[in-house]
Amino acid sequence: MNRLHGKRQTTNPFLLYLCAIWKMGVSMSLLSATSAWSQPVPGSLDAHWNEGAQDCKATPQPPLQVHAYDPQTFILRQSPCADFEANFLYLLIGSDKALLIDTGAIADQKKLPLLVAHTHRHMDHRAGDPQFASLPSVQVVPIDLEGVKAFYGFTDWPNGIAHLDLGGRTVDVIPTPGHNETHLAFYDNRTGILFSGDFLMPGRLLIDDAAAYRESAQRVVDFLKTRPLSYILGGHIELNAAGHAYRFGSHYHPNEHGLELAREDLAALPAAFENFNGFYARHPNYILTNPIRNLVALAIIAVATLIFIVWGVWRLLRRRWRR
Ligand SMILES: [Zn+2]
Ligand SMILES: [Zn+2]
Repeated sequence: MNRLHGKRQTTNPFLLYLCAIWKMGVSMSLLSATSAWSQPVPGSLDAHWNEGAQDCKATPQPPLQVHAYDPQTFILRQSPCADFEANFLYLLIGSDKALLIDTGAIADQKKLPLLVAHTHRHMDHRAGDPQFASLPSVQVVPIDLEGVKAFYGFTDWPNGIAHLDLGGRTVDVIPTPGHNETHLAFYDNRTGILFSGDFLMPGRLLIDDAAAYRESAQRVVDFLKTRPLSYILGGHIELNAAGHAYRFGSHYHPNEHGLELAREDLAALPAAFENFNGFYARHPNYILTNPIRNLVALAIIAVATLIFIVWGVWRLLRRRWRR
């Protein structure tokens, strides 16, 4: 950490924050690196996530909220005021390596390498990448599909499971294309948590390829059949506790839905595609939607309305001329 900071000073509060958490996590992990886990290590989701504000300028927010799920697992939430996407990032620490799911951290004086991986290549999940690209002991997984396949060794995409060994902690990597062609879910064998990115979360599941998405849902259901599942933690919260979606782009999330989803929510996902008409389907804890199709449909309706109005006006004028 010091060595690194000496070489390349950072004043970025996000990086400094991550740096401190990582340091804390590393010292903890060295204490417990020898134990083996058959049952998921318990942790706490008892946190009130920063809900942003109606007027972000009037009520300044810290850019990042950090919650220790357990001594080696950290949940980071970007403030809705810093960015309306208000992404959740996850830092998993093993005895040899740390894994950051969806944005970066920093090398440490003990030279514990950091691997920066992404659930998918959408900008809100990798905007932090350039900060880490040039740092020693940090490896950033490529964001394009060919690079993802090569890095994890997928030879029959989207089939097969890859494994990341963090030292005393294995993370399984499951292809989940559908929201985006590069999408992956990460299953942590230590905590039994599935980190699901935008594939499954309490919010809008934006569907790019419905067939691929449905297959991904079934793939994850099958994968987890024989494994313990503590929680499903995704990339965003876009619903309130009553299940209503916040306005797209809102910096204010009062009374948010919990971050965690459960096995039942995942189990219902393949079936939810049966009810998906290509535009919209509703589950109590998530919404299936195709934003492009909805936009096209809106555009068609707008054009049809315009044609109807022009036709009406033309008829009206013609009647007047005839009088
Ligand atoms: Zn996305
Ligand atoms: Zn996202």
